[in-house]
Amino acid sequence: MAGKVWLVGAGPGDAGLMTLKGREVLRQAEVVVYDALVSGGVLAMIPEGAKRIYAGKRSGNHFLRQEETNKVLLEEALAGRRVVRLKGGDPFVFGRGGEELELLVEHGVPFEIVPGVTSAFAVPAYSGIPVTHRDYCASVHIITGHRRADHSYDIDFDALVRTRGTLVFLMGIAALPDLMNGLLAAGMDPDMPAAVLERGTTSRQRRVSATVGTLERVCAQRVIQTPAIIVVGRVCALADSFGWAEKRPLAGVRVLVTRPRELVSTLSDMLRERGAEVVELPAIRTVPVRDMTNVDAAIQRLSRGGYDWLAFTSPSGVGIFFDRLIALRDLRALHGVKLAAIGQGTQKALLKYGLRADFLPSVYDGETLGRELRDVCAPGSRILIPRAAIGNPELIAELEQGEQLSVDDVATYDTEYAVAPDAEGLLLADVDFAVFTSASTVRGFAAAVPDADLSKVNAVCIGRQTAAEAQKRGMRTWIAEKATLEALVKQVEEAAKEICINEE
Ligand code: SAH
Repeated sequence: MAGKVWLVGAGPGDAGLMTLKGREVLRQAEVVVYDALVSGGVLAMIPEGAKRIYAGKRSGNHFLRQEETNKVLLEEALAGRRVVRLKGGDPFVFGRGGEELELLVEHGVPFEIVPGVTSAFAVPAYSGIPVTHRDYCASVHIITGHRRADHSYDIDFDALVRTRGTLVFLMGIAALPDLMNGLLAAGMDPDMPAAVLERGTTSRQRRVSATVGTLERVCAQRVIQTPAIIVVGRVCALADSFGWAEKRPLAGVRVLVTRPRELVSTLSDMLRERGAEVVELPAIRTVPVRDMTNVDAAIQRLSRGGYDWLAFTSPSGVGIFFDRLIALRDLRALHGVKLAAIGQGTQKALLKYGLRADFLPSVYDGETLGRELRDVCAPGSRILIPRAAIGNPELIAELEQGEQLSVDDVATYDTEYAVAPDAEGLLLADVDFAVFTSASTVRGFAAAVPDADLSKVNAVCIGRQTAAEAQKRGMRTWIAEKATLEALVKQVEEAAKEICINEE
């Protein structure tokens, strides 16, 4: 079968600015060739099995030259693979997208273009700068600050000044003095507002505001972080009143979330909604145990009325158990058995099957579940606990102190740890917090970044046991007030205030 290449715009940084089509195409990719400008949030969407090829570092010498990249795309497609070429922003806006297609066209390789959100428009928007505004301008221009081979600029400054439109310079930081001088020499008002916008749409975004006459001097006083764009025009003056991104409660905070892949999105969505930049590390995965003999026996016994209580300790545990139950019998096997859930997430998973938990503990952890369930159930109750193979021992220890309770602790799933494909890229200097929703996510995280110095990690944990696991590895920990995702997010906000991320 013939392969195909998709040239996909990854957007300017915020993973939420990747298009739906881009995300769908990426989900089905077999090979992904990506640039330095593609953000970690988007890289985390690359499917586990896909081959990743890095096509360029901004500095250093381990990068593919343009011709090499073109060749890689061709070869992978000719080998019959689905190839996604991921580029920052929009692939056709100073992205060399055109050059990469030429060789494909020559060889008759099919391709599609998935446009992206360009930094030229999105980065100003995240700083509260509308690139056009009826009261201020009638056009917007995107200009490269890159020089030609002979070091000259391919820019008609007179024409630019005449348009009186908003000017957006990409790749212009090194050329900043030349660009401003070019505009001034062509007659631009030195008081014209101008801004440098660094790392826009990410948690590290920053705006440096000045005028065309002063921008060079203002920028010389600080280190400009790249990527950055330069915006020139009266609309820049609106940033003070329209700025919104930095007002969000978790603005400036980059959070790493480690959860089983299926569950990751709720927590990430909640964090993103509050303005955090989220990097997802799907380092742990739950898989049904290979040998289902014990599970099947427990289901037989359940359907014969052999249990009084069924207790669940995780949403995955619910899903895996009921999938098996429905494969063998159906929900009527439950008869009148009572249901216990360790917390709200697990309760929600039960609701998907139309079931409501009869009991939730006052604190959502294994020990409390055991202690309180022990008091709730009648003496002599028979309890089935289908859960992870490496389940928390305190739950069972508590239950066993109950009056003649019989407890069947049945392993239904294993937790597998994966090494993150770009563990190096995730290296923690860059992440302000790692958020953990269970002890196994801590273990999964540690396994995923084997070489990281974990004592530098700020860990926000859902409960005591999770925090204990993090402390064991030297992390600095915070514990959510309640074992809910809401409380966990709230705790990230508190912790962020404490360590004062925005200090410069
Ligand atoms: N195709 C990309 C642009 C590639 S040229 C797009 O459509 O956005 C690379 C330049 O884009 C950088 O030099 C910088 O000027 C700009 N850029 C890309 N991402 C940016 C970001 N998050 N913040 C500020 N500038 C960015």
